[in-house]
Parts: sequence; C-alpha cells; structure tokens
Amino acid sequence: MALTACTHCQGLVPAASDRCPNCDTPVVARRSRAVRIAGGLFVGGAFATTLMACYGGPPRPTELPQPTPGSASPSSTSTDPPPVSTIAPPEAKP
Ligand SMILES: [Zn+2]
Repeated sequence: MALTACTHCQGLVPAASDRCPNCDTPVVARRSRAVRIAGGLFVGGAFATTLMACYGGPPRPTELPQPTPGSASPSSTSTDPPPVSTIAPPEAKP
C-alpha cells in the first residue's frame, strides 16, 4: 500500500484514506496527480518524437532541398572535359 505524507503533520497517510489518521486533515492527492500529469506529458512527448522520427515530421528550413552549385561538377578542374550538357540533344522548350 502506498503511503503519502500529510501536509499538516507530515505523518504517513494511507493512499486509500482521504484524511490524516493523526490530525484528521483532509489529504489532497496532489502528488499523485502531478506525477500522473508529468508522466502523461512525458509519454506524449516521447510518442510525438517517435512519430516525427519515423515520418520525418514537419519540414524545417534547414532540411529543404537547396540547389548547390558545386554538386553538379564536383572538384572539376581545367583538365576535366566539360559536362555533356554542351553535346546533349536540344530539348523542346516552348
Ligand atoms: Zn496529519
């Protein structure tokens, strides 16, 4: 059986009892409620974090695909031949 501390006389009060057996002060189960709320928030946060980790979550500006000019020709020097774009067949553009 869980025991809680009385807020008035600091005596041990059974969790099932709503009054302190020593000073007859009504015991408010605020501790268990706070723990329950904190646990719920923790579980909810962990659940949301897991969902975002699995499904990517909302897109962040830092993760958006940005055109990198250096990615097309990595470490291209003057000795490398030009890309095939010069001899590629012309595409029909309106
Ligand atoms: Zn008491």
